[in-house]
Amino acid sequence: CSSGNGFPNFRRKPVIIIVVGMAGSGKTTLMHRLVAHTHIKNIRGYVVNLDPAVMTLPYASNIDIRDTVKYKEVMKQFNLGPNGGILTSMNLFATKFDEVISMIERRADQLDYVLVDTPGQIEIFTWSASGAIITEAFASTFPTVVAYVVDTPRSEDPTTFMSNMLYACSILYKTRLPLILTFNKVDVAAHQFALEWMEDFEAFQAAASSDQSYTSTLTQSLSLVLDEFYNNLKSVGVSAVSGAGMEAFFKVVEASADEYMDTY
Ligand code: GDP
Ligand code: MG
Repeated sequence: CSSGNGFPNFRRKPVIIIVVGMAGSGKTTLMHRLVAHTHIKNIRGYVVNLDPAVMTLPYASNIDIRDTVKYKEVMKQFNLGPNGGILTSMNLFATKFDEVISMIERRADQLDYVLVDTPGQIEIFTWSASGAIITEAFASTFPTVVAYVVDTPRSEDPTTFMSNMLYACSILYKTRLPLILTFNKVDVAAHQFALEWMEDFEAFQAAASSDQSYTSTLTQSLSLVLDEFYNNLKSVGVSAVSGAGMEAFFKVVEASADEYMDTY
């Protein structure tokens, strides 16, 4: 398969799916659901956990940062608080990330997807050197997409919606990877309103104007700026709890991987 990235033997599989999102958006629960879906559908998946501080994982992982770096010991050794501990653990793991890539490369012929869970606090992954190193290591070896998980019920508030979109926007431009807006928790609230707001900024402005605050004025101006950003996005509604939208999710991942192969 040829692509424009200058790697003549660049493969179309496996596709790396990096799951990011605000704390509590449902990344880990969604990972669990995605892993279960791959088992049911005989999709060949590989699972990587990059959250050093998670106590228990609901799914079985093939590669777990916690096997290599003991977060609690890192905190003690370097005299760090929780966030510093997570960051330093990721830095330590990033120095060995070529081994992770090699492990996946050796199995590449037997894999369709690699699912990657990231630390609870999004900025620890998205704004750190090690997050960038890990993302680049994946993206220079395999087609890589970012699934940005949105807490849909919470995003019914226009200002929260806008914060989420700005965050997703910054990740898109920082990683330059295909980004999938993954509206989670549709068992609680359908994501139709979000699609409408993205489609028609006047509809969004109408919703935002019910709030007369300064933030709301800012939010309205930003919605114009984001119009261009929305054009570059794919989105899908899912429920990690009910399992709704799993087929649709993997379809969007495939389309995004095609986009990756065309672009890079
Ligand atoms: P993370 O911090 O992004 O990894 O989020 P978690 O996976 O730990 O989920 C945070 C909370 O949201 C938990 O209480 C989950 O049970 C809940 N949750 C996650 N996905 C869904 C969903 O699809 N529907 C509902 N109703 N709750 C969900
Ligand atoms: Mg989590």
